[in-house]
Amino acid sequence: MEILCFRGFLQSHMNIEKEILRSLGFGREVAMVEECRCPLCADKVDEDEFRTEVFIREFESSGLCQGCQDMVFGYRVAW
Ligand SMILES: [Zn+2]
Repeated sequence: MEILCFRGFLQSHMNIEKEILRSLGFGREVAMVEECRCPLCADKVDEDEFRTEVFIREFESSGLCQGCQDMVFGYRVAW
């Protein structure tokens, strides 16, 4: 399975949504995700840090790193 950086995902699927987000004042978050940075902690996200594909899928939709997904969702048990 090929894992794409969220940047590529954004560019291919979310150009219109991105503009909407920017106009709503989420420009900073959009810029962070474009750099493959987590919008919560601003750390550079490395796909290797994700424990399972479940987290990778969440990263593709939210841009959150593994650590923040742990925090936000409380996933402490291995899938
Ligand atoms: Zn994070």
